Amino acid sequence: MESVPVSVVWFKRDLRVSDNPALVEAINGPYPVLCIFNLEPERLERADVDPIHIEWELDCLTELRTALESIGGSMQFNLGQVTDQLSELHETYDIKHLYSNEETGLQWSWDRDKSVAEWCSANGVEFTEFPTNGVVRRLGTRDHWKKHRDARVSSEQINTPVAMESPKGFTSNSIHSMEQLGLAARTLVERPLPGEKAALNVLYSFLDERGRTYRKDMSSPITGWDACSRLSPYLAAGCITIRQILHHTRRKQKKVKVNPRSKENLGWTSSLSSFQSRLAWHCHFIQRLESEATMDVIALNPELDGHLAREMDVERYAAWSQGKTGWPFFDACMRSLIATGWINFRMRAMLQSVASYTLWLPWTDTGLHLARCFLDYEPGIHWSQVHMQSGVTGINSIRAYSVRKQSTDQDPDGDFIRTWVEELRDVPKEHIHEPWLMSDEQQKEYNCLIDVDYPSPIVDEKTARKEGVSKSYSAKSKPESKQRSLLVYEVHGSRKRR
Ligand SMILES: Cc1cc2nc3c(=O)[nH]c(=O)nc-3n(C[C@H](O)[C@H](O)[C@H](O)COP(=O)(O)OP(=O)(O)OC[C@H]3O[C@@H](n4cnc5c(N)ncnc54)[C@H](O)[C@@H]3O)c2cc1C
Repeated sequence: MESVPVSVVWFKRDLRVSDNPALVEAINGPYPVLCIFNLEPERLERADVDPIHIEWELDCLTELRTALESIGGSMQFNLGQVTDQLSELHETYDIKHLYSNEETGLQWSWDRDKSVAEWCSANGVEFTEFPTNGVVRRLGTRDHWKKHRDARVSSEQINTPVAMESPKGFTSNSIHSMEQLGLAARTLVERPLPGEKAALNVLYSFLDERGRTYRKDMSSPITGWDACSRLSPYLAAGCITIRQILHHTRRKQKKVKVNPRSKENLGWTSSLSSFQSRLAWHCHFIQRLESEATMDVIALNPELDGHLAREMDVERYAAWSQGKTGWPFFDACMRSLIATGWINFRMRAMLQSVASYTLWLPWTDTGLHLARCFLDYEPGIHWSQVHMQSGVTGINSIRAYSVRKQSTDQDPDGDFIRTWVEELRDVPKEHIHEPWLMSDEQQKEYNCLIDVDYPSPIVDEKTARKEGVSKSYSAKSKPESKQRSLLVYEVHGSRKRR
């Protein structure tokens, strides 16, 4: 009997039904549609992947499967190589066309996508990929990138399909549980709800109320928790697109423009404008990884990185990664991140810059730790930021955050510190930022003996940071570093001054 001709939609980090060109093109084509998702076993072993990422992805996938089934579709999950999954399906069905949305990832994902393209050409299957957000594949020069990006993310959204046809006999199978995968994810405090419906609800709550004070409140880990959009884990799993977010943001902007000074609209004009800049950064940084898939192991400016010659120090790394440095605000940020899977941008920058400048630890190792901490791990943004906050691009200014300054600026009363650093819960405001300066009597009175209950600072922050900055300027000024910086700017530099 002749096998049934079908199209296949291969879902990756695009776990949504709405604004999904690959899905809609397949549905509009001449064949019934099979949906597949494949989890590569080697991904589970990767040093940048944490069980929280897999759990989040599987939960979003479950939501997607329900959404597909509600319009007549089915989805099959596979643990293995995607080409094996395709070969198996090809034995039962005559796969005519494979559709997917482009993924910008590290080298392993490029290799995977290449093997899929080869499988398709060996099996006479047409393979069509669609661009994702504002990232431009095979971009020649950065000069015109912004124009491409803006046009793409401002274009009409793709209509959400209301019906689709699956071939007879093709039904969804079960998605592996974390136990079946042999994984246990740490339980995150207030983990967001998974899936595209939840993503839209988070966006609406941001644009209805939470985002009003975004501009002024985003820098503090206390106010940022509510004032930031919190869309990052959804963007990372592809539950929502930048185009969808921009569409709703511009609608809000239009409403505000009618009477920007009214009580109802107070704060929104500047907040919406700042928010849109961040959405542009999203695409700008992922575009970097699009042309340098090895950013997790090779610095954009390898000559500069070579001159910096940072070294692993096991004791410092342990203190940094566990939030036991003896700097209360730093420790609170790291512990809060580990517990919740999220922290605001300013604090992420501080965590990385303290590792790279003050503690002089290699960014490759510390970047991996942070990747595993973030529920929203997005390789393109992550490694670009790790490079920037470690001063290994050569095109960004050297910025080494002072924990002491961030502590008094962002948590003046020490509430955030006391929430996350139990050992300091009884320490009053006047000692909370530098508890090691307390007298023996005060330590007893406030139930915190330094070096018994809570460590003294791992290094003298001011001296170590100054030294790190000075070594960085010296490495940046070497002729080889400077020469490479010109090339880095050519390929990756933002053409608009920020
Ligand atoms: C060392 C370091 C590592 C980071 N790693 C990641 C990561 O793995 N995944 C990730 O999504 N973001 C990362 N960021 C960027 C930023 O901190 C987060 O995007 C943001 O905190 C997520 O919260 P939000 O969605 O509420 O952001 P909002 O402030 O509400 O911003 C909305 C969206 O804009 C984008 N965005 C915001 N700030 C930036 C930025 N500085 N650069 C690029 N895009 C931005 C994100 O997609 C974000 O979801 C990192 C920053 C640093 C300093």
